[in-house]
Amino acid sequence: MDKCSFCGRTRDDVAMLFAGNKAFICNDCIENGYTIIEEYALEEKTKKFDNKKIKLYKPLEIKEFLDSYVIGQDAAKKTISVAVYNHFKRIQKSKDSELEIDKSNVIIVGPTGTGKTLMAQTIAKLLNVPFCIADATVLTEAGYVGEDVENILTRLLQVADYNVDAAEKGIVFIDEIDKIARKSDNPSITRDVSGEGVQQALLKLLEGTIVNVPPQGGRKHPEQKFIQVNTKNILFIAGGAFDGIEKRIAARLKHNVVGYKTSKDIAIDRDNMLQYVSHQDLKAYGLIPEIVGRLPVITYLEELDAAALRNILTEPKNAIIKQFVELFKLDGITLTFDDDALDAIVETAQELKIGARGLRSLVETVLNDAMFELPSDKSVKKLKITKEYAKDKLQKINAIKLAN
Ligand code: ADP
Repeated sequence: MDKCSFCGRTRDDVAMLFAGNKAFICNDCIENGYTIIEEYALEEKTKKFDNKKIKLYKPLEIKEFLDSYVIGQDAAKKTISVAVYNHFKRIQKSKDSELEIDKSNVIIVGPTGTGKTLMAQTIAKLLNVPFCIADATVLTEAGYVGEDVENILTRLLQVADYNVDAAEKGIVFIDEIDKIARKSDNPSITRDVSGEGVQQALLKLLEGTIVNVPPQGGRKHPEQKFIQVNTKNILFIAGGAFDGIEKRIAARLKHNVVGYKTSKDIAIDRDNMLQYVSHQDLKAYGLIPEIVGRLPVITYLEELDAAALRNILTEPKNAIIKQFVELFKLDGITLTFDDDALDAIVETAQELKIGARGLRSLVETVLNDAMFELPSDKSVKKLKITKEYAKDKLQKINAIKLAN
């Protein structure tokens, strides 16, 4: 009589008995095993954010890690590596020391799709700390339609599996911070609930305070139990495109240069004004001085040129092309791209002005027919994407785009 090799019960005693190679297992033993695996996985997950285990990486190590995921943007990588190193040094500093070191929250200024989010995400990956992205545009002052700033911390708690200790050492990326700039220079005419009001609310988080966080998010209501989260050691990285800030930078530089009468000595690179961005410019743009003061580390990202886009396709550890090569490999097909086929993809990205963010969907478009047909065609073992093939597929998008 067949028996479960684990609990010994016979086929008659169990609902199902699965036969393997010289062994049997019953449905109950499978379920038990599954529960054990789940419990183990959960334990591992909470261990994942064990706060005692945050390794203190040196700036050079952080930069090297960033290099394997983010193309270019050297200036930003260096600045951020130092800020992150100082931040975690500050957290791990002996409690006996009386000197309080200020937080090194970061603000990154740069066009959309140049790697601001990717940079913050990659840092969190390296440090293995909870990480979340908050969109500043949906935040409003408490009591108004929209999200309270506390909800940012709800998300962080969720990522940390409600491990408060871990969340308190996490990283929050605040996207589109430029969109909550003060709309006018006179703040008191009308209430500015999505601009200055939000900045004031955010200020508390950035400074470091104990916040009552609604564990499930949403509006605060009296019956809901709060979890207290101290934001003192949370690293905030804010990012924004700050469209048009170049003009303010230029105006300031002109002013300074004239003021110091050294205009002949200073060669200003007019094609890349962002590299000169300063806290003053952020204030001129409409961020309140207190917020600017709480984001002491400022850096910029450059617009990605054709060479950078080309590298993004193939170089990063999880580069788009590498991912598709792997997908095809799973079907037993060797996928290769001619150099000029990759160039054609980059050209299209530039023509359509969709930058790095659009590269993936372009590659997807080029490969879509092949991904549809080849899994059912056992005779194909190799697929080489030539320039002509790529252009033919890419033409379809151009046509759609032109029709709009
Ligand atoms: P943003 O600056 O708007 O935050 P993201 O970081 O979200 O831009 O970038 C969008 C996508 O474009 C990323 O997921 C990544 O695939 C790609 N990307 C953008 N910039 C870079 C870069 N410098 N290196 C590698 N990939 C990049």
